[in-house]
Amino acid sequence: MTFLNLLSQPSKLILDGATGTELNRRGVDTGLPLWSANALLTDRDSKILQQIHEDYLRAGADIITTNTFRTHRRALAPSGNASRALELTSRAVTIARGAIINSKSEASKFIAGSISTLEDCYRPDLVPSDEELRAEHAERIDHLAQCGVDLILIETINTIREAAVMAKLAVATGLPLVVSFVCNREGRILSGETLTEAANQLLPLDVSALGVNCGPTADLVKPLAELRQACGAAFPLIAYGNIGYADDEVGWINTDSEDPKNYCEHAAHWDVKIVGGCCGTTPEHIRQLKLALK
Ligand SMILES: [Zn+2]
Repeated sequence: MTFLNLLSQPSKLILDGATGTELNRRGVDTGLPLWSANALLTDRDSKILQQIHEDYLRAGADIITTNTFRTHRRALAPSGNASRALELTSRAVTIARGAIINSKSEASKFIAGSISTLEDCYRPDLVPSDEELRAEHAERIDHLAQCGVDLILIETINTIREAAVMAKLAVATGLPLVVSFVCNREGRILSGETLTEAANQLLPLDVSALGVNCGPTADLVKPLAELRQACGAAFPLIAYGNIGYADDEVGWINTDSEDPKNYCEHAAHWDVKIVGGCCGTTPEHIRQLKLALK
């Protein structure tokens, strides 16, 4: 079954939980600006990363996310690895595919090629010029398409301008495309723009699903309601919240502010087609989510 076929079925799909913060929990240095890409440089036989993917698959995830959030030229440049963008992206996709093969699941499982903002995902003030966005995102999206991902997941996006550039490039690959924004406590994109405006600009580009991620569960309710209004009752939405908080140096501080059961009780009630976990969530969150959706 293809991803788009599955998206048109009535049941909800489960996206995996966090990879970056889970790498950190398992002892990988995820300091900025490399963040989760460091696992591809330091975990030579990639056992930790592959185990995380497998744990999410066994917990019930239908879609696993490649560890490619920071494998683009600009993020790799400060560590002298800019020329390794394709190599590291390819390694990340191969590890995800290996995890699916190893998990021996009978159900269809999909690989979402993850990409985010060129600069810091929580800093809309840093979004580069349209010209830079087009050139650099074209390369990343081409890398993911070459490596054979099943869909492109444009996630944790803080402005409509960058989202639109990315979506146009991604749609041109012919792959299904999901776009997800990061919002503030008032329910607006971090740029201050509304989800209604985002929907108005992105729906005509033929995106497969729209949504919000990387906010506390309570903060996702308002932007999701606005998206539902703007996209209509049948359009697939996606939501995956976080637990903990962002940190300028180490990237993310994990906390136990919401236990897996509590998180999933909230998440199971979101009016969305795809639900999962963002920073701070673990395989246990995904296992509980699977139970909550039963
Ligand atoms: Zn996150």
